[in-house]
Amino acid sequence: VTPEEPDEAPQEDVADAVKISSRNRVIFPDGGQTKGDLADYYADIAPLMLPFAAFRPVSLVRCPQGRARKCFFQKHDSGSFGPHVHHVPIAEKKGGTEDYLYVEDAAGLLACVQMGTIEFHGWGARSTEVEQPDRMVFDLDPDEGLDFGDVKQAAKDIRKKLADLGLTSFAMLSGGKGVHVVVPLTPGHSWDEHKDFSKRFAEALSMAEPERFVATMSKAKRKGKIFIDYLRNQRGSTAVVPYSARARAGAPVAVPISWKELDDFANAQPFSISDAKALHKRAESKALAGWGFAEQRLPDI
Ligand code: ATP
Ligand code: MN
Ligand code: MN
Repeated sequence: VTPEEPDEAPQEDVADAVKISSRNRVIFPDGGQTKGDLADYYADIAPLMLPFAAFRPVSLVRCPQGRARKCFFQKHDSGSFGPHVHHVPIAEKKGGTEDYLYVEDAAGLLACVQMGTIEFHGWGARSTEVEQPDRMVFDLDPDEGLDFGDVKQAAKDIRKKLADLGLTSFAMLSGGKGVHVVVPLTPGHSWDEHKDFSKRFAEALSMAEPERFVATMSKAKRKGKIFIDYLRNQRGSTAVVPYSARARAGAPVAVPISWKELDDFANAQPFSISDAKALHKRAESKALAGWGFAEQRLPDI
């Protein structure tokens, strides 16, 4: 008896494309999750993550010896990542260009994990149009001791203020301490306009309610307040990509949520790399349909 040929063409398996070494190496000592667990998470979550991670210059947080040891941010690569991690030349302010990294598929994510990557941070522009931003992020950073309820209220207020300007926004739990309010934009404006809009928006909030919000970096001025970090929106800055794992205790992940369910969460890290299945289930829900996508342009303010 000859076994039947499968009907469909054999699927190219990411596991064949990228070999993960030292699968048993513990990357998260607190929970015991290994490099293999992390690789499996990214292989599972790739279909949900790639719409936000692919074809976008990325910076990687690499922790080759695990999150408790030395970690570093990496924007460039000398070729060690292999054929699934691509390069895009980007003009430097001082002249010339530098090659930045981007991936286009699950194999690209996995190649980064093989190199010790835990976190993926993305530019607010596509690798095909690096001078035309398409994503604005208001990164809400609460001062230590602030209640998560204050962060949630701040995110909701920002959503309302953006809506008043005709902008649809989306909420993401960072997997760390805060919430990111994400504003997708149709490309067509410059980085200067992008940063300028976000700066004026954040400053208007802090001027209207200085006891709640602060829009300057200075740590001293942040006491008991929420820092609206608009500086994610300048050329070359990055923000953590939806569904990225975080190099923090418990192996949490950054998670898109609907505005409706924001109230239900007690902190910014309710999901971890063990939750790929649950995240897929969530992503099928009506509340999350279309998360992170909208055709809209920056208004004049
Ligand atoms: P949290 O909710 O805990 O604040 P976060 O991802 O928002 O998590 P931040 O420290 O507020 O973390 O940083 C915001 C963003 O700034 C990060 O997502 C990252 O993309 C970028 N960033 C942080 N540190 C660096 C760094 N050393 N070099 C380059 N970019 C960084
Ligand atoms: Mn933050
Ligand atoms: Mn920040």
